[in-house]
Amino acid sequence: MTGKRIVVLGGAGFLGSHLCERLLEDGAAEVISIDNFSTGSERNLAELPRFGRFQSLRHDITAPLHIRGPVDYVFNMASPASPLDSMQLPIETLRVGSLGTENGLLLARDKDAVFLQASTSEIYGNPLVHPQREEYWGNVNPTGPRSCYEEARRYGEALVSAYRRTHGVQTRIARIFNTYGPRMRLEDGHVVPTFVGQALRGEDFTVFGDGSQTRSFCYVSDVIEGLVRLALSDCTEPVNLGNPREMTILQLAEAVRQVHGGSSRVLFQPLPRDEPRQRRPDITRARMVLDWEPYVSLEEGLLSTFAWFRKVTSRRTPRHEDGLASAPL
Ligand code: UDP
Repeated sequence: MTGKRIVVLGGAGFLGSHLCERLLEDGAAEVISIDNFSTGSERNLAELPRFGRFQSLRHDITAPLHIRGPVDYVFNMASPASPLDSMQLPIETLRVGSLGTENGLLLARDKDAVFLQASTSEIYGNPLVHPQREEYWGNVNPTGPRSCYEEARRYGEALVSAYRRTHGVQTRIARIFNTYGPRMRLEDGHVVPTFVGQALRGEDFTVFGDGSQTRSFCYVSDVIEGLVRLALSDCTEPVNLGNPREMTILQLAEAVRQVHGGSSRVLFQPLPRDEPRQRRPDITRARMVLDWEPYVSLEEGLLSTFAWFRKVTSRRTPRHEDGLASAPL
């Protein structure tokens, strides 16, 4: 990425901000983050001005995007992404996935830039094939509570593919599986920050259903490495990025308890509708095409996630910035 001028849509979000930082570390000539801060946060970008080659623009990408000068890469990381976001921002999620993605593609077309779409394992829905390979087309309820996110990302992949075929845009599609790490929002409803917050407060872990559903959790730096490798490759097919280590949610609760210590127990709660029962990426394609696989262990990743949440919650102001919990930790 040395010497490249790069636009990151959704640059103030969890993944977007880690990506901006990585691109700057890699010697990008300039990184421009575009974000409306609906779920992203200025705090995620606080360290980046030190590079001197970083710009943050407040803009809603569902409106047309104009950037002066050349652009080499456009990364589309913009979307609300948690189950709670899907409940609270369903129309925004659909609009950013459709109109926002198209505005990003138009920018890439006009600038002759590579366009990387951050898609998701959610496009597989509640999968009937396990583990999930890129060839699997998914099992999605188009009108269920998760549909705004799942269908927006599926539409995004279709749109990206259409712009590649029709306009020759150089496109890449990453299907990102469950990812965790510093800069997640403590209360976005994702299971890792939820359990970490509960452990720090000495509360019980809220396990949905009987906790036998599975996920595979990838640490954020591994995913960012995969995204950079994919952008630099010439692979136009979707590529799964995720950790193939699959575990039940009860096992995750146990791992969080082991890393933190403490006496949190498990509190069973009803399983939300249309939840995937199991999820694990088949990363054969990423291994072959990108020579990529994750290497951060769950224990290491949880340790740095705990460290970050401890730091930000101890610094918190009474204004409850950035969606952090209102109760002291
Ligand atoms: N989950 C849970 N308790 C929580 C939040 C989530 O047991 O407080 C479970 C949820 O039922 C799901 C898994 O954790 O099976 C992962 O949930 P998350 O929302 O993090 O991601 P996604 O469902 O989108 O994979």
